[in-house]
Amino acid sequence: TVHDYQASPELLKNKVILVTGAGDGIGRQAALSYAEHGATVILLGRTVSKLESVYDEIIAQESPQPAIIPLDLKGATENHYRDMAATIADQFGKLDGVLHNAGLLGILSPFTHIEKDSWDDIMQVNVTGQFAMTQALIPVMEKSPNASLVFTSSGVGRKGRAFWGPYSVSKFATEGMAQVIADEYEDTKLRTNVINPGATRTAMRAKAYPAEDAKSLKTPKDLMPTYLYLMSDDSISDNGLCFDAQ
Ligand code: NDP
Repeated sequence: TVHDYQASPELLKNKVILVTGAGDGIGRQAALSYAEHGATVILLGRTVSKLESVYDEIIAQESPQPAIIPLDLKGATENHYRDMAATIADQFGKLDGVLHNAGLLGILSPFTHIEKDSWDDIMQVNVTGQFAMTQALIPVMEKSPNASLVFTSSGVGRKGRAFWGPYSVSKFATEGMAQVIADEYEDTKLRTNVINPGATRTAMRAKAYPAEDAKSLKTPKDLMPTYLYLMSDDSISDNGLCFDAQ
């Protein structure tokens, strides 16, 4: 299975891969792992200091020099995404992979207590931002010999759960967006798939389950076989699928 996928050292050599939310949690580990396997990684996130520390770690492990795109998905406009796509096309000529990983949990609360502002923020970051970014990036991805678009869902993106309000709805929307794109680009060089990380030891998980013993959870590193597989040429014929990383 993909859980025991063995990634060769140069698996992602010559690939350019963008990771959103690359400063922390699962995105940080994915960026480090992609770089370790030879990819040039574009680190996108909202906290520049965190991105810089991932950048330094990538340089320290002697992987290809990464790039940093500071961007808050909450305030980003179509112009930001257009500029970003133009810069990537200019600097690298193509984009081989995008990991949509950045996400906002918000506050768990009863449905009648959901605040409109909180709803809007979560939809903006988890759905609308991803939509606008993907729309801008597809033309640069089409310059790759084969490109992999990966979205991040959740258990609550397949079955609604009490109190998970806008986060759960946003993950259903993410799965829908991935299915639409996968169907539209079927039989092209662009493939689109979804990862459900499962319970993972990160700040987001700790916020959702403050009383839990984090040591009982899988770490971002444990998930990497699935994350590496989907960016590698071994997944070229996979499209429109959902992968549980655990
Ligand atoms: P973290 O909260 O640890 O990391 C999320 C990352 O996204 C952070 O780097 C954060 O930046 C970034 N981010 C958040 N909002 C924005 C924004 N507005 N603009 C740009 N970047 C932003 O979460 P995880 O690593 O746990 O989660 C990664 C993905 O996996 C998410 O999509 C999440 O929904 C999903 N997931 C996680 C599970 C888990 O158990 N951990 C389970 C199921 C799904 P900053 O550090 O600056 O805040």
